[in-house]
Amino acid sequence: MAIKWAPDSWRSKPVRQMPTYPDEKALKGVETTLSNFPPLVFAGEARSLRRQLAEVAEGKAFLLQGGDCAESFAEFHPNNIRDTFRVLLQMAVVLTYGAACPVVKLGRMAGQFAKPRSADMETIDGVTLPSYRGDMVNAMEFTPEARIPDPARLVQAYNQSAATLNLLRAFAQGGYADLQKVQQWNLGFVSDLPMADRYLDLCSRLNEALAFMAACGLTSETTPQIRETDFFTSHEALLLNYEQVMTRVDSTTGNWYDTSAHMLWIGERTRQLDGAHVEYMRGIANPIGCKIGPSVGADELIRLIDALNPKNEAGRLTLITRMGGENVERVLPGLIRAVAREGRKVVWSCDPMHANTVKSSNGFKTRHVDAILAEVRAFFAVHKGEGSHAGGVHFEMTGQDVTECVGGARAITEANLSDRYHTHCDPRLNASQALELAFLLAEQLKD
Ligand code: PEP
Ligand code: MN
Repeated sequence: MAIKWAPDSWRSKPVRQMPTYPDEKALKGVETTLSNFPPLVFAGEARSLRRQLAEVAEGKAFLLQGGDCAESFAEFHPNNIRDTFRVLLQMAVVLTYGAACPVVKLGRMAGQFAKPRSADMETIDGVTLPSYRGDMVNAMEFTPEARIPDPARLVQAYNQSAATLNLLRAFAQGGYADLQKVQQWNLGFVSDLPMADRYLDLCSRLNEALAFMAACGLTSETTPQIRETDFFTSHEALLLNYEQVMTRVDSTTGNWYDTSAHMLWIGERTRQLDGAHVEYMRGIANPIGCKIGPSVGADELIRLIDALNPKNEAGRLTLITRMGGENVERVLPGLIRAVAREGRKVVWSCDPMHANTVKSSNGFKTRHVDAILAEVRAFFAVHKGEGSHAGGVHFEMTGQDVTECVGGARAITEANLSDRYHTHCDPRLNASQALELAFLLAEQLKD
């Protein structure tokens, strides 16, 4: 029996992956404080993203969703935000120009701090401690004190999200994203990468097109679309107490919006139909996503879709498949057919990262670029075969020159992993590897 939804109705359902705080009173105090803080995003912006995602659902646009696996307090720096934003823009340009396809730009940024874990405890050299669950919960250091969940971290995450979002808005709207500056985005950055030639070639063709448009009277002064871009934020809605206090009524529609981000998604470990996360997410009006691993059955998927998008609105629900290349070929066709047969409107997006995590022989959690690209190719091939739209990708990347995933055009080897392995959770594509993914996507979209 469905219960009446409220921002706190999830509390009557089984809750998974959320920490237990030792000091209940301190937690309540923080929740009260946050409930008085301003919203981070506005309902109108979330609606605008939803309209853009409806275009994706209808096969007229492509979704690019990427950023950190886990943002961290230690790496909070304007240059890091700028570099991640810049790589996402570069990827979007490759797709928009290379495949003549409108791109919806969605960062895993400004709120992506809390992590689900496969195991509650972690053992190193015979010592067992609670797992690290992201900077919003506890600290990564392997000490008993660091691993105690601290509610003050919720406030710090809110503040960092607010500052990050502020800078992202300035970048998107204040001139940084001007297409006439694409060439400058790569200065000191793309120039020394293997992807540079391809990217520079694309830039010069884009510049020719812009020069032609300018000669026709369309410049960044006359045409805001050249000067500005829409950029949205998203994170996994894991800590439902945080999402609850950020949930506010929109005065123009009377609907509830989670104002902590434009888009929120449910992770693979918390998508149980009877669980707290599905209960919370079904009631907010934001566009939402749900991760789908290879174990999902077609009936289960349809029930999940009905719970999360009962009015069958295009742009409301993005299914983010994370299966591994072989499983894509084995499992995805049946799911696509079931969704088509039932007439459900969804965006299909491919997360080629989370089923491709392996341990390197020298002990690093890593991913092979080849396996990532293979899953993307399989995703496109299956959608082509089924006559449905491969709508987007969801990936973990950073603008920093890290060595966390092996392979890529500037072949990172297992021995290189220790050079610049900085992630707080999963291995991310670096700038060069992310651009490589973008060129592959452009090819697939053009096909
Ligand atoms: C993630 O996106 O970082 C994640 C934990 O993914 P999943 O829920 O698909 O495992
Ligand atoms: Mn991850």
